[in-house]
Amino acid sequence: MGTEHPHADIHWREDGQPLSRAFDDVYFSRESGLEETRYVFLQQNQLAERWRALAAGDTFTIGETGFGTGLNFLAAWQLWHREAPTDAHLHFISVEKYPLRAADLTRALALWPELQPLAEQLLEAYPPLLAAGVHRLRFSRVTLTLVVGEASESFAALRLGDNIRDRQVDAWFLDGFAPSKNPAMWSDALFRNIALLSADQATFATFTCAGLVKRGLKAAGFELEKVPGFGRKREMLRGRLASHAAADPTATPWHLPRHHNALPAGTEIAVIGAGIAGATAARALAERGYQVAVFERGEAPGRGGSGNAQGILYAKMSHRPGPNGDFNLHALLFALRYYPRHCPEFFHACGLLQLAQGTREEELHEQLRHWLAPLDAEALAQPVDSARASELAGLSLPYSGIYFPRAGWLEPANVCTALLDHPNIRLHCRAEIDHLSPSGRGWQLHRAGGEPYEADGVVICCAHQAPGFTQAAALPLRPIRGQVSIAHATEESARLRTAICGDGYVAPASRGQQSFGATFKLKETGTELRKEEHRENLEMLAQLMPRAAQDFATQSLTGRAAVRAATPDYLPMAGPLPDWESLRSTYSFLRRNRKALIPERCHYPPGLFALCGLGSRGFTYAPLAAEVLAGWISGEPMPVTEELARALHPARFAIRDLGKNRQR
Ligand code: SAM
Repeated sequence: MGTEHPHADIHWREDGQPLSRAFDDVYFSRESGLEETRYVFLQQNQLAERWRALAAGDTFTIGETGFGTGLNFLAAWQLWHREAPTDAHLHFISVEKYPLRAADLTRALALWPELQPLAEQLLEAYPPLLAAGVHRLRFSRVTLTLVVGEASESFAALRLGDNIRDRQVDAWFLDGFAPSKNPAMWSDALFRNIALLSADQATFATFTCAGLVKRGLKAAGFELEKVPGFGRKREMLRGRLASHAAADPTATPWHLPRHHNALPAGTEIAVIGAGIAGATAARALAERGYQVAVFERGEAPGRGGSGNAQGILYAKMSHRPGPNGDFNLHALLFALRYYPRHCPEFFHACGLLQLAQGTREEELHEQLRHWLAPLDAEALAQPVDSARASELAGLSLPYSGIYFPRAGWLEPANVCTALLDHPNIRLHCRAEIDHLSPSGRGWQLHRAGGEPYEADGVVICCAHQAPGFTQAAALPLRPIRGQVSIAHATEESARLRTAICGDGYVAPASRGQQSFGATFKLKETGTELRKEEHRENLEMLAQLMPRAAQDFATQSLTGRAAVRAATPDYLPMAGPLPDWESLRSTYSFLRRNRKALIPERCHYPPGLFALCGLGSRGFTYAPLAAEVLAGWISGEPMPVTEELARALHPARFAIRDLGKNRQR
């Protein structure tokens, strides 16, 4: 994972059908692609019958090799609407090594007028940069997990290493170009990974009857049956998994609870904190059918670290493969789908310029430019020189940078309030939770002067205050005070059209006011306004908008100071909280050999989770981090690779400390 991928090289034939130049093969049948999909994949997996038998709240998971034009996905989605109960949810996991460019996808899907309403939704959500890794696209009754990468490697990368969590796929669509044209994909490793992701009795269907496919599927534990193929094709294969092979432990499973700890839908979960972490967590859980009670000590949602007048959607992209660059990119892509869907009125997609203010940034941007070039990334990120940057911003800027046309700024408090507006969420403000204690059912939340509140699970989402709870005391969250300054917009400053960030940020004027900042004061928790920090912000602004900075210096500025919480590796924490003693004793051997493979798991108190450490990028990180959290809580397919799930896991620091033989 983590390397860039070329797009599909499509040849459009005279009859309007797409053909892959690299494989010299068609994406679907020339006669009737949609009919073939229905016959081969939907009927032979008996999806209509199986879906009619589902109960409300059930989920069903399809796995596919080769997303291609998304025709199979759309046909399955259409059938799901016809046959499945309205509140059941379909997960569709598909891998694709050579994703189609958006323009090719649009042209291919135009061939199927009856799928248009669904195709439009897919096209709208289709990632503007098809980077390697996991893209999570959520629709109202269907979730698409599109993994860009080689098929076998991509499926392997999704496995968390836990039988219950990994054995998810109920039906497989084994598509992909014909084995004679694409033998590399149909490998033994692919079949093994497919078997390891299969639920008991998972079924499969494939258009081919090639010997290598039959042998591979049999060796992986599938029973096969030959049935007549579609149209002129004589035969095809279908079948089901007869026996599960045991997966070899490949890495120490410190991220997995000893006992499966997913919570059933319908149970009650308490969320502590109604900033952007709590709001996205509550929303992700409510949409999955949990009853969510949110406790906020402030007067209203989004008044702490998330409470500035304007928040910008900013991510730190990296040309280097690795969890930080991967998470930043995928979190930004997810956030750009999320806010327009959930609260379009409070998200202002005015574009964002990330400027290179200094030699180091210039070098980094140069590397980013090289990295982006083959990715066809203009819809997400465009390298710009200072002339173009100035043109976009509406005022003269002396820096080059990267322009994100779909990003911009949002209204933090309104976004948090809008996200919490869901029938499954109850919001309690002025409700400070003092401590937590385990109860027979799950957790008791104790409030000063009030009856304890009881829930099946609890999610701690209160930034630097999280370690105030004994259960989260081991989390290394560092408070960072930040002050934003607010001035009356002037004629000059109001010309700014895009959000800008570099050494600091400034957003376009809103309601006659201009926000800029923010200071960065490590380990400080005071929230009083400070004159010297206004001065720092003005100095920062002087580099971007010198005339506006001069004008603002004569005004009496207002502003806001708040405390963010950062982690030592600048990635957020999203996932279950372990029993720290159990973790340290189970993995104590790591003190002597940090690379040791210890197959045991430690104890995780049931129903205890955290989402915190979003630092200065809360609005970018929170939506995807909440999706990861919801994956841990519900047990549904994860929206990130196993590597990233570990990189975001709240227990990672304790494990790293053991490896360094360090006590915290
Ligand atoms: N299911 C697709 C649809 O509904 O449009 C059609 C799939 S098309 C016949 C085969 C797809 O498999 C192509 O998009 C191709 O790029 C992809 N593919 C080929 N080799 C692959 C590999 N090794 N890993 C992942 N995807 C691969």
